Amino acid sequence: MSALLEFKDVKKDFPVRKGIFQRIVGQVTAVNGVTIDVERGKTLGVVGESGCGKSTLAKMLVGLMPLTAGEILFDGKPLHQSDNMETIESARQIQIVFQDPFSSLDPRLPIGHSIAEGLVIHKIGDATSQRKAVGEMLDLVGLPPTAADRYPHEFSGGQRQRIGIARALIMKPDFIVCDEPTSALDVSVQAQILNLLKSLQQELNLTLMFISHNLSVIRHVADDVMVMYLGAPVEMASAKQLFADPKHPYTKALLSATPVADPEKRVERIRLQGELPSPINPPSGCTFHPRCALANDRCKREIPKLVDHKNFSTACHAVEEGRS
Ligand code: SF4
Repeated sequence: MSALLEFKDVKKDFPVRKGIFQRIVGQVTAVNGVTIDVERGKTLGVVGESGCGKSTLAKMLVGLMPLTAGEILFDGKPLHQSDNMETIESARQIQIVFQDPFSSLDPRLPIGHSIAEGLVIHKIGDATSQRKAVGEMLDLVGLPPTAADRYPHEFSGGQRQRIGIARALIMKPDFIVCDEPTSALDVSVQAQILNLLKSLQQELNLTLMFISHNLSVIRHVADDVMVMYLGAPVEMASAKQLFADPKHPYTKALLSATPVADPEKRVERIRLQGELPSPINPPSGCTFHPRCALANDRCKREIPKLVDHKNFSTACHAVEEGRS
């Protein structure tokens, strides 16, 4: 199977500014060397705590932010560096569904206008065909076509997220980035939206990148998983492998905090020590060492490399030394 999307050593730094003149006094690395492929028709789950760099990764992918280093290939071609027509085409092919669809809907306009916005910007079709496409998309996401004439405040959170999905789908994308699309919703509505995304993926042969801080959500949707900590991937594996046999101490801690229905499969909760450190002044060596029960002197000195173990990749000295 071929990769539709390839991240190649992608890095993103932001300047740190201070004082009334906003002078640059340093820099913070939000994403540090992400290399991963997303196979066509599959879902890559990206998981980590808030501030781990997963949303920055999404923003670079959809062109909302330039890369500091590395490259992103879409269908074998570099994204956002090609000529204008190719850039416009890749903007159509890659769409994003945000956590809060309400903020991206104009409260003064019926939602049909917001759903058709991409078609209008890209000058696809005329008013009649655009209205027809809006009706088809609403139907696809389980809303009546008459909803096009209603205003955002008339919908529930789950319905607004369906509108967000319709808005992405109307561009007939190959790839959708779902940036925490269910984290603002009630649990029962979360399941409906996840099931909708899964069935649409199969029906339309979509490839997804699904970002979440919640491993239960990732377990439900992902084929492959990348766990990020302070801007860098610390473990990558198929979802099956990762949930059955997590390797990195951070993945184990995240997983131990995830509710499991089967009492026989429950594991003792691993409580992480302390808070997520500031990326402005990250810890030396392994950035996870102040919170890791397995940390030793080597961990404090030496940055662990991401090592490929065939079934999984992980960046941890304890795994390499066989003491994990
Ligand atoms: Fe823990 Fe050391 Fe592994 Fe980092 S490298 S996760 S500190 S054991």
